[in-house]
Amino acid sequence: MIELDGAAGEGGGQILRSSLALSMCTGQPFTLMRIRAGRAKPGLMRQHLTCVQAAAAVCAAEVGGAELNSQTLSFRPGPVQAGSYSFNVGTAGSCTLVLQTVWPALLMAQAPSRLKLSGGTHNPMAPPFHFLARSYAPLLEGLGARSELQLRRLGFYPAGGGEIEATLWPADGALQPFDLIERGASLEAFAECYTPGLARSVGRRELEQLGSELGWAAEQLREGACRQNVGPGNVLMATLKHGRVCEVFSAFGERGLGAEAVAATLVREVRAYEASEAALGPYLADQWALPLALAVWQSGKAAGYTCTELTPHALTNFEVIAKFLPVEFKQGGTGSAFSVNLAPTGSVRVRTDPPQPGP
Ligand code: AMP
Repeated sequence: MIELDGAAGEGGGQILRSSLALSMCTGQPFTLMRIRAGRAKPGLMRQHLTCVQAAAAVCAAEVGGAELNSQTLSFRPGPVQAGSYSFNVGTAGSCTLVLQTVWPALLMAQAPSRLKLSGGTHNPMAPPFHFLARSYAPLLEGLGARSELQLRRLGFYPAGGGEIEATLWPADGALQPFDLIERGASLEAFAECYTPGLARSVGRRELEQLGSELGWAAEQLREGACRQNVGPGNVLMATLKHGRVCEVFSAFGERGLGAEAVAATLVREVRAYEASEAALGPYLADQWALPLALAVWQSGKAAGYTCTELTPHALTNFEVIAKFLPVEFKQGGTGSAFSVNLAPTGSVRVRTDPPQPGP
């Protein structure tokens, strides 16, 4: 039984989600104490509880402590079952994080899965739908696992009600890791703004401000076609497509925050990425570690990446991953360019159903 402390390092929900994902992938049970101790409202909030319930449904797990506000959880996974699933956060909590929790296990399953997820699709402090679709999914495809994501309805805080559909195909054999050292040539850069339920002028002002600060032309500034939605919301996103990686940065509008301030936040993120030559921005740097570590473990091959920042999220995630997988993380660098290298270190007790380690 792997024991984890939810207060360690960054102390947030990612410790829970990575533990669930890796427990499902490896068949190793775990207990987690002091869940989200680093947050103002610790314990399982609705979106975290939905992650636990989704993980339990996908692998018929025995679970203890799966209640709202619970600060302790035990999780004993059964076999991962591909299939059709529907998970509803029930609030505006992020449903993209629910998808990310079950995704690694389903890409190691024996058949494709279809998922319907409801809740927030564009939340601050979580990967927005467009980030998953443009940044994260293509990297997983590079490991050998294809997916198709569709945004059916936008979901913003506080109304929620967004909907995503995902089809996840398992990899054909072991996941194959690859190095991501350079981002590649710049192919395309554009911004888009969604402002459902709000005056269109809000979005236009955000785009104009962003365009003038970054020197982007009118055709790079797009008003997102408003899909059906439940409540009002506002996200401004910048997509930077390079030869080897696509980054999506985002900033959110809220009552009392001017359109210029929203644009300024996003400009800072874009400039920070442009000031570095590293391949991955700060969010991919923490999220890429888990699927890459699975591929390193399954294939027995080392791999690495460069990133603009090594956030507390990333460092904490490395520690959680190393508790479940025989993979060693080595990181270095300073300023705006860091490197992360993952090497296989041995074998781990693995589940006997589909996922099998390499040599
Ligand atoms: P936690 O705060 O522990 O619940 O984890 C939040 C997760 O959301 C981390 O994996 C972050 O990388 C991710 N995240 C936060 N903000 C963004 C963003 N703007 N774009 C993409 N991912 C994000």
